[in-house]
Amino acid sequence: MRILKDKSLFHQLCFINGAWTGADSGEAIDVINPATGEKLGTVPKMGGAETRRAIEAAHAALPSWRARTAQERSAIIRRWSDLLLQHQDDLAVLMTAEQGKPLAEARGETVYAASFLEWFAEEGKRIYGDVIPSHQSDKRIVVLKEPVGVCVAITPWNFPSAMITRKAGPALAAGCTMVVKPATATPYSALALAELARRAGVPAGVFSVITGSAAGIGEEMTSNPLVRKLTFTGSTDVGKKLMAQCARTVKKVSLELGGNAPFIVFDDADLDAAVEGAVISKYRNTGQTCVCSNRFLVQEGIYERFAEKLTQAVSVLKVGDGLKGETQQGPLIDMAAVEKVEEHIADAVAKGGRILVGGKRHALGGSFFEPTVLAGVTPDMLLAREETFGPVAPLFRFRTEEEAIQLANATEFGLAAYFYSRDMARVWRVAEAVEYGIVGINTGLISTAVAPFGGMKESGIGREGSKYGIEEFLEIKYLCIGGM
Ligand code: ADP
Repeated sequence: MRILKDKSLFHQLCFINGAWTGADSGEAIDVINPATGEKLGTVPKMGGAETRRAIEAAHAALPSWRARTAQERSAIIRRWSDLLLQHQDDLAVLMTAEQGKPLAEARGETVYAASFLEWFAEEGKRIYGDVIPSHQSDKRIVVLKEPVGVCVAITPWNFPSAMITRKAGPALAAGCTMVVKPATATPYSALALAELARRAGVPAGVFSVITGSAAGIGEEMTSNPLVRKLTFTGSTDVGKKLMAQCARTVKKVSLELGGNAPFIVFDDADLDAAVEGAVISKYRNTGQTCVCSNRFLVQEGIYERFAEKLTQAVSVLKVGDGLKGETQQGPLIDMAAVEKVEEHIADAVAKGGRILVGGKRHALGGSFFEPTVLAGVTPDMLLAREETFGPVAPLFRFRTEEEAIQLANATEFGLAAYFYSRDMARVWRVAEAVEYGIVGINTGLISTAVAPFGGMKESGIGREGSKYGIEEFLEIKYLCIGGM
């Protein structure tokens, strides 16, 4: 990575127990820039044995880390956050190179990632227990909150930094230790986080990063009895598998899985605001976020005007290499992602959908895809049921509020939903009727460290961020003190 100001942020080895380490086998995996196809470098191909050692190191580091005062842990995590901000230019370049998102978005994610560390450095100081009025006069009831223990995290490629700090921030602040397996496509952001954790004073073994075989690492992480908790962000299929694996040792799990977000535009919406929100919620990260709108449900009175304005806005989005100039849309992560988007579009068109703009691979080649808007989409199409994870806005038409709610909830997912309306009574009615963990009302942007992020139904278990996020890394211990 020649273009980094601080070249020691670029590591091609794993960080285990405070040391930069290669795989036992010496094997490595290539890491590719999705915008250019060029090889950026390699990372170790580790498996179960290396994972076991990382977990044992996390176990060994636990007693002294949890014994520190919350203030001491907080100061270290706060320093880690400051280092992310200080190095945000380099971290953004690294992220764009491996992930493809435009540099401005990569910088935005780095600031967002730092904000979780800052937030939880503070929250860690406010882990209060309880004293409960007793049921018997000779007893006292006290509730302690204790760290869960050794945690493991498996994270995706769409937010290579923030999905790690959103887990590691609360875990470390609560007094837990953690081993992270980042996505194989985006390991360098994770390894740079490890470098900065080291500089911030996070002790050896408290935060380790391991790369390699997902199945091998995942099997050890979910079966090792030293591990008390798994926190995962990724697809619903893999989440279910990991949850089943964790059942064998009854580990706690937090899962942030797929979504199928509806974006409802009622006739009374502010049209320009709805279009702006639609572009942000759909095309951010080239449609590759779990809270990206997947289905646009538009009321019949505003349908044509919304379709026209959205098409205009989408047709001027600049597609290109995220490291270059004014790019607003980077490439998709890989060719499999391109094929899924193509399959969804072909299925819609075969069943009567119309392409208003885009609809095919971009002239730039590789995994670039044209930002797309489709009209005439109906519930029998793949787009209605599956998460597309690409730059495609499918427009469904509805007539009544009841119909919109029914369509919105007609999915096994329940992560994010969005709607636009200026009628306060309707805002409350719809907000209460939709079965989603996150509801954006007259906004397309809902992510912040201060609010609880997470899904209902098959979109997940638990919440990340906010005062609720740290609870996921705490156990409740009840003391019953008798003999008063
Ligand atoms: P996505 O590719 O959409 O992010 P995945 O669920 O495939 O979703 O990947 C999320 C993370 O889960 C990645 O780090 C990936 O390597 C990991 N992963 C995939 N399959 C397994 C598995 N069987 N066991 C453990 N981890 C896995």
